[in-house]
Amino acid sequence: MMSQCFIMQTATEDILLKVTNVCALCYGDIHVGDTIHYDTQRYHYVCQSCQEEQCAKLDAECEIVEDEEGGLFC
Ligand SMILES: [Zn+2]
Repeated sequence: MMSQCFIMQTATEDILLKVTNVCALCYGDIHVGDTIHYDTQRYHYVCQSCQEEQCAKLDAECEIVEDEEGGLFC
């Protein structure tokens, strides 16, 4: 099984407009400049606190990758 991985990004207006402006798990609002995490297994964005919760559950299988390309959807 492939390990679950989160891509850490800073929310941009583009992501909020084209992808989502709420966390996929807690439905909390995401604002420009917020730190968000893209879940590569479930294909959605989650907020910082949900990502931490997921990571705690997944333990060692969880991997966080910092996005250096400037966004998956740009
Ligand atoms: Zn959340």
